[in-house]
Order: sequence, then C-alpha cells, then structure tokens
Amino acid sequence: MKNRKQSEILFSKAKQLMPAGVNSPVRAFRSVGGAPIFMKKGKGSHVIDEDDNEYIDYCCSWGPLILGHANDNIVDAVTEVVSNGTTFGTPTRQENDLAELVIDNHKYIEQIRFVSSGTEAAMSAIRLARGITGREKIIKFEGCYHGHVDSLLVNAGSGLATFGTASSAGIPDSFVKETIVLPLNDANAVKLALEKYKNEIACIAIEPIPANNGLLIQGKSFLQFLRDICDEYGVLLFFDEVISGFRVGFGGASMHYDIRPDLIAFGKVIGGGLPVGAFASTSKNMANLSPDGSVYQAGTLSGNPVAMAAGYAQLKQCLKPGFYEELNKKTEYLVTSVLNYAKEKKYNFYMYHVGSIYWLNFLSNNVTRVASEIKKDSSSYFKTFFHHAINNGVYLAPSKYEVGFVSAAHTYEDLDITIKVFRECLDAAYA
Ligand SMILES: *Cc1c(COP(=O)(O)O)cnc(C)c1O
Repeated sequence: MKNRKQSEILFSKAKQLMPAGVNSPVRAFRSVGGAPIFMKKGKGSHVIDEDDNEYIDYCCSWGPLILGHANDNIVDAVTEVVSNGTTFGTPTRQENDLAELVIDNHKYIEQIRFVSSGTEAAMSAIRLARGITGREKIIKFEGCYHGHVDSLLVNAGSGLATFGTASSAGIPDSFVKETIVLPLNDANAVKLALEKYKNEIACIAIEPIPANNGLLIQGKSFLQFLRDICDEYGVLLFFDEVISGFRVGFGGASMHYDIRPDLIAFGKVIGGGLPVGAFASTSKNMANLSPDGSVYQAGTLSGNPVAMAAGYAQLKQCLKPGFYEELNKKTEYLVTSVLNYAKEKKYNFYMYHVGSIYWLNFLSNNVTRVASEIKKDSSSYFKTFFHHAINNGVYLAPSKYEVGFVSAAHTYEDLDITIKVFRECLDAAYA
C-alpha cells in the first residue's frame, strides 16, 4: 500500500466543506471504496499526488488531456494570453482562431458557438433543435450521457417507446415526458417511436461512440439508419461528441464513420484542459440562435480567451500528420497485450478500444447496449483491479463504467509498465 496520508487529511477537510467532499460525484471513489487521491501535479503521462506518489495516468481528467499533462505549447499559450487579462466580455481574436481551426478541419460544420462545459453544449444543441423544428420531444438512448441537463437525466421506461423516469431527484415529470429513452443499437425501437410520435420529435440525440456506460460501440449501419430515418421524418440528428470529438480523430465519430449529423456538441479535448464546450452545425441552422434568431443562448465566460488559447494550442498539435495513427497504434498495443494475457489465463475479461478510448470489460462479451449483463456484479473484479493498479503506480478513473484514455504523452515504456501492472491486476482480480 502506498502512503496516502495527505490525501486522507485533505479529504476529511473537503467533506466538511463540499457535499461528499467533491465537486463531481464519481470523484468520491464511492464504487471502489477508500479516499480519493488528491493530485497536485502532472507532467506528460504522469501525475503526482499530495503524498508524492507518482502514477501513469489513464484518466487524463476524464478525456480532455489528449496531449497529457502540462503540455509545453499549451502552458506557453495560456501564460501568454492570461498575462494580458483573463476575460473581457467582448469578442476576442482567440475565439476566431479556435473556431476557424475547427471549422476548416471538420467536414460537417460551418459555424460553431462556444460555451463552458459539455453539459451546456448538449443543452444548447437540444434547445436549438427544438427551436428549429418547433417540436418538443426528443429521443435519447439508454446508456448515453449528455451531461446533467434536466430533460436528459431520464432512464428508460419498461417497454419500448414508453416514458421513462428521472434518474435524479429534482426533475419535473413534465420534463421527463418530453424525453423518449430507447435501447441502443435497436433500429426497430427507433422506428416504433418515430411512428408513434410522428411530428413531435425535434431530434434524436446519441453519443455516436457511447463511452459513459462502458464503451458500447455501435455498428456504422445503426448510425446510418438513424441518419436515414431522421431525414424521412424531418427529425434532426444530434451527435453528442463531447467525448469522441477530436479524440477518435480530428473529425470525431462523424468523420470516423462518415455520417453527417445535423448538430454536434463538443467538450473535453476542445478546451485543452480548460472549461470549454461548443455546439456546431450548418450556418443555416446556427442562424436560429440569438441575436439573429429566436433561440436564446448566452454565457458570461463563453469563448474565454485563455480557454480558447488552450484549446487552439492543443488542437493544432492534434492536426500534425500521423497524430491519431500513432495514438491508435499505442492503444492497440496496450489493449492486445493485456487481452492476450487474459485469454491465455482464460479470465472472463475483455478489453477493447476505438482510437485512444479503451474499456476494461469484466463481462467478456461485446456489449452494444445497456443490457442486464452489464449490470451484473462485475464490481468486485473492477474494485480489486483498480486498487491493485493505483497501489502499483497506474491511475484509472474510479468506476467500472468509465473508459480510459491513452494520450500522446504516453511512451512505450509507460505502456510496458502498464501492461505488466494490468496483468498483475487481472491475476489479483481473478485469484
Ligand atoms: C463529459 C460528457 C458530457 C458532459 O460534459 P461536462 O463538461 O462534464 O458538462 C456530455 N456528453 C458526453 C458524451 C460526455 O462525455
């Protein structure tokens, strides 16, 4: 066991100051047990905690850090911009720079608007969809996360195309009634819902690469089916690419599968580690936004110049030739090395990836939707695996439902150490 005295002291203090001691629930380590680790420093693929323990980091702040921690170019850009002031509440050059970089390198968007989180991006995209279509209901999929927006925190109902229930207290039933929750990868369920609620559905919202409930990779044919049926019913297709955008390739899932969404939400990687979200579409759709159009949307710190500079410095590096190929190769190496060992040992364990997003799956089957098998108790396996990993210098997101991220800063040396540790973690979990 590593000594984590300082983290424990800080956590008991934090618990008096903030509910459960955290500002985002999964940080509290509830599903794995123990005190969360307080980090104080990161460089490249490594993080150092308050007790000076060092870890190879695969949480990467839950996805934003595709270049690893404290990337020199990002630190320089942020330092330069911040020294001129943190915010003006006026337009700044930095907004143009990031907007142009994204639009010029993305096949499906013509205009973008920046916000400060992924939640805000998804919420605004959905309001825009409702404004454009004049319709109120939306379809979402069980297992897809779109931030903590009221009408999106809804669980599936008991039957196909029935109304669900709020997955949080504090959400009015009347909001829940506007959200239809369907199983992923089930074309028939979508057909039935669209038939039943014809002319009432504003948009179909999906994480095209669902990565918030394990990694539930969808077939391209299902995504293409969504595109086609949206056109048939005059429904907008909304890809929430907060996790997949600039992660599986610069063009995210839309360009990975080459499927055109009507609306896209971004977050995480786009901000280079600062709070940035964005939503984007065609100029025609975006013209519905205030002040040109009637869909209101605003933000005091939206397009913050320091955050824009961080995003720009990060995305500029992502555009270097071979960037995503190299990242994919590294992830493939990690995944196959661990998977081959699990196979050899006949462990009931599976690991797969899309680009540099991977998932540790203790169920050993390729899940494409939230099914009963994913809910079965794989927790104890993950818990053992997790604690063995952090005690041996590999930091992971503290939940079996979370994916891991490989960054450009991870070296083959890091990966070899990780492979060795993961193999031992598996031995411990399946002992
Ligand atoms: C992280 C995430 C969000 C929420 O973004 P925040 O910045 O945490 O508000 C929304 N959608 C998806 C797909 C995400 O992965």
